[in-house]
Formats: sequence, structure tokens, C-alpha cells
Amino acid sequence: MPGSPQLIEKLLASLPTEQASALTRLVELADRRSAAIYLVGGPVRDLLLDLQPGDLDVAVEGDAIDLAAHLAEAADLRLVRHPRFGTATVSGDGAHVDLATARTETYEAAGALPSVRPSTIDDDLHRRDFTINAMALALNGTDAGRLLDPAGGRADLDAGLIRVLHTASFQDDATRILRAARYEARLGFRLEEATHDLLVRDLPFLETISPARVHQEFARTLLEHEPERALMQLANLGALRTLHPSLHFDRELTAAFERLRKIAPRAVPAAYWPLLTWHVAKSATEPVIARLALTRRQADAVRALTELRGRTPRSGARPSETVSLFAAQPTAAVWALAAAGSGAAREQAHAYMARYRNVRPLLRGDDLLALGVPPGKPVGEVLARLRAAKLDGEVRTRTDEERSVRDGLIRNDE
Ligand code: ATP
Repeated sequence: MPGSPQLIEKLLASLPTEQASALTRLVELADRRSAAIYLVGGPVRDLLLDLQPGDLDVAVEGDAIDLAAHLAEAADLRLVRHPRFGTATVSGDGAHVDLATARTETYEAAGALPSVRPSTIDDDLHRRDFTINAMALALNGTDAGRLLDPAGGRADLDAGLIRVLHTASFQDDATRILRAARYEARLGFRLEEATHDLLVRDLPFLETISPARVHQEFARTLLEHEPERALMQLANLGALRTLHPSLHFDRELTAAFERLRKIAPRAVPAAYWPLLTWHVAKSATEPVIARLALTRRQADAVRALTELRGRTPRSGARPSETVSLFAAQPTAAVWALAAAGSGAAREQAHAYMARYRNVRPLLRGDDLLALGVPPGKPVGEVLARLRAAKLDGEVRTRTDEERSVRDGLIRNDE
């Protein structure tokens, strides 16, 4: 069946100019080489949902790297090749196109990366995770504009269903469990019934997934607008406790995620990581850090939050006391406490991050030397005392600060 131009027109109209012109160039180059090219996966799904497609994923029946190199040259864009995977990225000036040689995959062991062979677009669609991601749009030749939908993805898009392509899908690659929850949450879809049962049956296969791959899926989930929806779903499905028995997610953490976005939009996603481990017992912290392959920075925030949770700050503490409690802590941990803590802990963490941490005396080191403070360590000590006095409202103006330094010097002389 020949294609119709409508979907391609819709695609070009929905893309930023730079993306549209990179794609038009790519079609010309592919035509010249008689290579069939297809838009695949996420952008096709998004196009049919009337959402703005993100990066362009293009499958090539032929040598994707060679085609990518020609596109990079013709459009003066950057080329990054991944010969091991038969893929390449062409980007620059607002354009970003990922090209991959159409391929088939065989899973020799559950959870292991598959062995890969170049193949046709049909095989390429059959290796995919869910029907809604297993569609392609032919971009050139007589087929241009044809939607390839061998698994019924369009009907599932209309029905709002996440459905796997075959019954061993979650066993072959259990990261699909984490991906399923992400798509459900993002698109407001639900798991098709048989897919739900397969997912629950195959939860134990999460053990076959390396920490690095688990990390990657969580990192992508935490970049969603409302990651708490996917995390809640993973908790309800039993996936979180399968990953580690002490990983929980609940209404309290849902509220904390929402609160974090409100009070500290720029601490997102960094502060989500420690929040995610809010319910983890101290004894389980290190195993959870290992299971999620947290980076050093993320792990430090998780450890710090575990400690902070154990300390109950005094209500009515002076601001300078609050500062000494939080000053050496990773900011992601303090924001997490401000989002999920209660009472004084929450208030003080918030006050520290929003106000106290930026309070500095008006006088600088040079001013102190001029006032007679001996050089070296004493300057740092006086600055710290001035900062505490300013935090606690004991000094306000520059004159107050100068007086306080002079008084201190006199007292030290006595
Ligand atoms: P997003 O869906 O997050 O908007 P995307 O659809 O481009 O982006 P990616 O994770 O970049 O998602 O994957 C690209 C495509 O590759 C998916 O649409 C899907 O068809 C396929 N894919 C990705 N991961 C898997 C997997 N674990 N198993 C099977 N297919 C996968």
C-alpha cells in the first residue's frame, strides 16, 4: 500500500525549523543512495498523539553510519558514531537526529544485552518494548508517509494501553517493567490486562538487570514532569520492593516530590534521589545505593539525609545553630529534608536553604585587617562570629559589625 503524505506533512509542521530541514536533507541523501529510512519509536508515537516529538529517531535499512556522515557533511553538523551498535548521532544548530541501522535482536540470557544483526524495518519493530513504541513512518521512496504498525500500536494509543509484543518480553529485558510505569504515568495510560499479569509474573527478572541499567531507567524517570506518578505505580506493582525490600513509595513521598518542585524547582532532579530513599532504614542505605548504582554525589546526599533524619533539630533554635547543623551537608539532602521532613526539621531546612545559607557579613577580610584583627586564622574566626551575629539579628549595619569587631578585640586584649 503506497503511503500518503499527510503524516509527513504533519511531522514537518510540528518540528522546529532546524529539525525539519535536517530531516528534509536526510531524505534527499537517502533517496540518492536508495536507502529506505523510517522515523521510529517515540517520535512516531508522539506525532500520533499530537505531542511535540522530541529527538528524531531514524532507522535505516542499510548503513546508518555512512548516511549520518553524509548528512553531517552536507548540513555542516556534528557527527558522533557508535560503530559497535551501528548507530550515529548528527547534531548542532538546534538539530538532533539519531540514526540506527535497522536490526534484529536475540536474547541469549535474561537481562543480558542482546546480540544484534542488521535487518529489515519489520524485524526492527518486533524487537521493541511496547506496541505504542513499535510503529514506524516511512520517510522516502514510494512508501513515503506509510505508517508501519505491525503490532497494533495505533489502536493501543487510541485505547490508552501499554502492551508488550510477546509473552517473554519482560523476561528478555526487565527494564521494560520500569519503562512501562514511566509511559503509563506520562501518557495517563494503563497496562493492558495480560501485560499487567506478565509484568507481575516476571518481577523476579528485575534481579537480572545490572545496577547501571536500573540507574539509567530511574534517572530517566526522575526527568519526567511528575516522576512520583511512575514511582507510585512501581510501588503498587511490587517492582520497588523487588529491586530492594526497603524501597517504598507512598502518598507521603508523592506529596514531598510535589513540594520539592514548588519550593526548589532548581534542585530537581538532584534532590529526588535522596527523597527516593526516605523510607530506607539506615542499615539498608549502602545496599540500596549499590542497587541503584548511585553516583558519588547522589550517594553522599542519600547518606547525609539518613543522618539528618536521625537528628531532631530543637524548635526555636537560633539561625546560627541551624546553619551549623546544615552548612556541611549536600544541598540535595537539605532540600529533601525541607520537602519531606516535618515540624522543626522541615522549617529549619527550608529556612537554611532559602535564606540563611546566603547570609554573609558586610565586612570582608581586608576590613578586618584594617580594624586591627591579626592576619591568618583570626580573620576567618572573626568572620564566622560576625556571620553568626548577623544571622541571629545581633548586628545589622556595617557600623554594628565594626563595633562588634572592636569590642571583640578589646575583650581579647583583656
Ligand atoms: P521517550 O519514550 O522517553 O520519549 P523514546 O521513545 O525515544 O523516548 P528511548 O528510551 O530513547 O525512548 O528508546 C527509543 C525507542 O527504542 C523506544 O521507543 C522503543 O521502541 C525502543 N526501546 C528502548 N528501550 C527498549 C527496551 N528496553 N526494549 C525494547 N525496546 C526499547
